[in-house]
Amino acid sequence: MGELMPKELVLANELMRDHTTFAVGGPADVLVLPRSVKEMSLAIRTARSLDLPLTVLGGGSNILVRDGGIRGVVIQLNQMRRVLSCHGTKIHASAGYMLKDVCQFAQQQGLTGIEFACGIPGTLGGAVFMNAGAYDGEMSRVVSRVRTVNSTGGVHTYSAPNLGFAYRQSRFQKSQEFVVEVELTLRRGDKEEIQATMDDLNQRRSSKQPLEMHSAGSTFKRPPGYFAGTLIDQTGLKGLSFGDAQVSTKHAGFVVNRGHASAHDVLQVIQEVQRRVELAHGVHLEPEVRIIGED
Ligand SMILES: Cc1cc2nc3c(=O)[nH]c(=O)nc-3n(C[C@H](O)[C@H](O)[C@H](O)COP(=O)(O)OP(=O)(O)OC[C@H]3O[C@@H](n4cnc5c(N)ncnc54)[C@H](O)[C@@H]3O)c2cc1C
Repeated sequence: MGELMPKELVLANELMRDHTTFAVGGPADVLVLPRSVKEMSLAIRTARSLDLPLTVLGGGSNILVRDGGIRGVVIQLNQMRRVLSCHGTKIHASAGYMLKDVCQFAQQQGLTGIEFACGIPGTLGGAVFMNAGAYDGEMSRVVSRVRTVNSTGGVHTYSAPNLGFAYRQSRFQKSQEFVVEVELTLRRGDKEEIQATMDDLNQRRSSKQPLEMHSAGSTFKRPPGYFAGTLIDQTGLKGLSFGDAQVSTKHAGFVVNRGHASAHDVLQVIQEVQRRVELAHGVHLEPEVRIIGED
């Protein structure tokens, strides 16, 4: 692989804390940062031929990597940014573009519908995988087609009805298929209004969320009929901490890393929050953050 891909894109024993917004996590045996589908397919083929486990990540903004790290090959797609184009009301973009860049591109084209996502700090591919959403918007409402590569290198295109979207769910959570390109279908809008909406949403986000600290966003999914942050706050858990991991004092729905938290610290906070909320309210909180790797 080293011969066909620049050395700086194939990293051995790379600490995942340097590649995730939580800034937590031990080493990946090998971390590959492909810039194209061709380079990604090469990494997949190499991992397969060596019988190594494969993990695919986007921006690492919804991930908690355990302290022992990840065995095998991790492919992080945030360098994969070959395609970004507009045809009428449709945008085609490589999976590695950050959502904020896709939203800004839509604004420049005078296209509305994806403003809700401008403050979600991940890639387009990760947002499709998670069916990310905010402020009454969700990826399921704007994604019309998705191109994937699977673990044997096969390419497939799915159209909207077959994407298995539900709250924070997509078909890709159950299959070994990786999102490489996305088609969004938006509507014509006014450029200034679109920008004003994004500015307003970003302002609302930074006034409520601890964006100045390391985190992976909302730690828990919204339980039916409740808000996780409200339940945690009502249970008196703001500020609860183990080591440097803490329930944010600004927004109880976020666990933050105050500096040097280990994954073990974060998991202790998560488990204690789950235990005490269940005791107080009889509601089980399911993590939204995806927990991967070895202890
Ligand atoms: C401050 C902050 C605020 C946030 N606010 C929100 C919010 O408002 N709404 C919201 O929904 N989320 C929010 N998040 C969480 C996170 O940004 C989203 O879940 C985002 O969509 C994750 O994208 P990512 O590229 O970082 O994916 P990663 O975290 O890298 O990966 C997440 C999952 O997606 C899979 N994956 C990633 N890319 C691909 C791909 N191309 N193909 C197949 N699988 C893939 C990974 O295997 C992993 O299981 C927030 C996070 C932070 C840190």
